[in-house]
Amino acid sequence: MVVVDGYMRGAVRQFVLCLSSMRRIDAPIELANTLSASRGTLTQRICRWYAEFSEDLQGGRDSYPAAAVRATPDLEDRVLEIARGAEILSGLVERPAVPTLFLSHDMDYLGRTLQMAIKNAISQKKFVFPSTRAGNYLDAVAEMFAFDASVVTEGLASTVFIAVPGSVRGIGRRAKQWLIDPSYHNSPSLLSELIRLTENYRSDVGLHGSYFSISQGLVPHELATLRSATGKASRIGRQHWLNLTHGPVAAMSYLRGSGIEVDSTLGWNGTVGFRCGMARPFSIALPGGGQIMEVPLVLMDRPLFADMGLSADEVLSLAKDRLEEVYVRCGGVAICWHDAAAHSDFGWFETYQRIVEWAANRGFKFSTISALCS
Ligand SMILES: [Zn+2]
Repeated sequence: MVVVDGYMRGAVRQFVLCLSSMRRIDAPIELANTLSASRGTLTQRICRWYAEFSEDLQGGRDSYPAAAVRATPDLEDRVLEIARGAEILSGLVERPAVPTLFLSHDMDYLGRTLQMAIKNAISQKKFVFPSTRAGNYLDAVAEMFAFDASVVTEGLASTVFIAVPGSVRGIGRRAKQWLIDPSYHNSPSLLSELIRLTENYRSDVGLHGSYFSISQGLVPHELATLRSATGKASRIGRQHWLNLTHGPVAAMSYLRGSGIEVDSTLGWNGTVGFRCGMARPFSIALPGGGQIMEVPLVLMDRPLFADMGLSADEVLSLAKDRLEEVYVRCGGVAICWHDAAAHSDFGWFETYQRIVEWAANRGFKFSTISALCS
């Protein structure tokens, strides 16, 4: 009974947090207490909603989904339906909202590396020779940042997640880190040139937490390294490989305790969709009463082109479908195109431009993830 009661209270708490992303709630704790005390059909509906929310939050291994992912943000619709059915919706004021796109870029490679060649050979059956010259992707990165700055004319243009992996112990972990984690921080000139580009093109900078950053407790160290490289403290992050070791709730709790206020890791590997069924920034309830804000990551270049094998036109069409779901709900989501997208090795940039231009014409406004920090 205690366990059931605890589960129900957790469900109600998360429900109120999701509802508060859409409606102003002056006294969320009182509302949660009232809902919890009501029992019966209402709390049963909230628990059923929460079971689906939690399953999506949990995801599959390494953020690869265990089942089909959501093409619509149906769980936020269900929150409103349940609130309407309980006759609490009419007493709450709608949050003023405009459809918002958070343009973001994870910096994984700043040039061809042997690790990238190995990973491409495995995942795409395509071998891209590692560069033996000084060639790198910085021109392509600059082109992408410049495009963002041309579309977003006021304030910061887009959010760039930079990786500065802390070192791990153990030969197995070190080998895995060598293969999986970005390594450009080992080249001070590449890292400083990347940071110069973020300044030139008015980028918001966040931490791209390394693969082992959670399991090995490296996030405070990585945030400090990023701070000393950029001269500014960052309170936002997205985990490399969307890796939330130990399960997303424990991982988010650790991230929040390490100084990350807003995370944008909740998307999918291998496919795209509305993880947790939300189409706007929302708070995740953490053990002990805290919370962390999450910006859902709805579209990403590599899953669309490489894993799903879509053509440029198919990517554009799917992107419009997903973003239209966000637009009609006045939601706000992140999209991520990687460092190398604009390089001819990949050729994914033109589609990004078409998506962003479509969104601007449709009436989306643009914001950065740091703008959500308190
Ligand atoms: Zn990454």
